[in-house]
Formats: sequence, C-alpha cells, structure tokens
Amino acid sequence: MAERLQKVMAKAGVASRRKSEVIIASGRVSVNNKVVTELGTKVKVSDSVEVDGVPIGGKEKKVYFLFYKPRRIISSVSDEKNRKTVVDFFEDIPERIYPVGRLDYDTSGLLLLTNDGDLDNRLTHPKYEVEKTYVAKVEGIPTNDELKQLRLGIKIHGKKTSPAKTNILETDPKKKTAVVQLTIHEGKNHEVKNMFKAINHPVKKLKRESYSFLNLRGLQSGEFRPLKKIEVERLY
Ligand code: URA
Repeated sequence: MAERLQKVMAKAGVASRRKSEVIIASGRVSVNNKVVTELGTKVKVSDSVEVDGVPIGGKEKKVYFLFYKPRRIISSVSDEKNRKTVVDFFEDIPERIYPVGRLDYDTSGLLLLTNDGDLDNRLTHPKYEVEKTYVAKVEGIPTNDELKQLRLGIKIHGKKTSPAKTNILETDPKKKTAVVQLTIHEGKNHEVKNMFKAINHPVKKLKRESYSFLNLRGLQSGEFRPLKKIEVERLY
C-alpha cells in the first residue's frame, strides 16, 4: 500500500501533514536519495525517506501483531491488482507495519506483522531456524514411506529440504484425502506445497497454525492481537 509522502511523514512524527507539505515543497525531503518536491508523491514501506538527510521513522514506536490471515488475502503491503492485503486489516494502526515473511494468497493462518526490521530479520533468517507448523489437506493418503521422505528431507529444484516433523491427523479413504501436520523451519516460497507435490500428494488447503511458540488460540480468521512484551522478548 503506497501512501502520500506527507501522511507518512506525519505518522512518523516529523510534523503535521500541512507542515510536512511545506517541508516537502521546500526541497528538504528525499525518497530513495532523490529530492522530492511533488506533494502527491506516494511512497511504500520499503522506500527510504529522509528529511534534511535524516531517515524518518526513528520516532515511530515499535509494534507487533499476531494476525489470523484469512485465505484469499495478499501477504504484502500493496498489490498491483488492487486485491485486499493483510495491511488493510490494520487501517486504524498508525504505524507502518508489514508482514514478517509471507503466506500464499490461498493459505490461511498465523502471520506476524511489525515495523521492527531487526525482529523481522531475526525471524526470517534461516540460521535462526524458527519452527512453523502447518496443517495441510492433501490429495490421497500419504504412506509412511512417503512421509519419511519429508522427515528425512526431499530434493526440490535440486536442493534437499531440511528434515520436517510429520503427523497424520485425519484420513478420508472415501474422498481420498488426508490432513497432515507438518513442522519445518525453512521459509522458502511455497515450501510446504512443493514438499507434498514432491511425494505426489498435492495440497488442497493449507493453514499455518503456529509460528515459534505462538499459536492462533483466541483468534478468529481476520482478527489480530498485539503481542505481549514477554512474547516479543522471547522471539528475540
Ligand atoms: N508453504 C507454502 O507452500 N505456502 C505457504 O503459504 C506457506 C508455506
């Protein structure tokens, strides 16, 4: 979601919107190292905005939310097709938050949003091996040997995935489907779907039920809650 520069400056505590307009018009503001004087300029979260050479945002307090993402919502701050994004659920939150990692458009479940870049890096960097648990409804009923391949690691695009934990929760022999719980600590694009595809059990439905020690307890789809201070400390 791109926002007008003066609104972004006001939210970051630089000055009121009107005053921010004056600051922009006087050539004191740069976006991605280019001076901007146009008042209609729109900026994204990823753009770097400086006033008199000093990055804005330093005054913005750090906020952390646990969100139950519904299906058919984009996990980013803007969408070129104008589809609803996770950030649209947070319109009343003044800080410029963004999701930590992503869930696919058709995946539901636990997504963290924050404006804390350090925590974002900490959680998404592979070396920290943050565990994520998914529940996947898959086509067919995977055999123990097939699930063992996921547990040991399976080759996808020439690279072996790291070992997963698996647990069959339900099987429906009539409909030929199964519900499998899978825990991984990697975060590659479409990882879970690719893993099940590799054992010939394509995913029909996917939900992330936990992220590190956090889960969705108490939340309905589309709802969010702020993280408690102690939870933020534990994530670091
Ligand atoms: N793995 C996937 O395939 N999709 C997601 O949304 C998350 C993990």
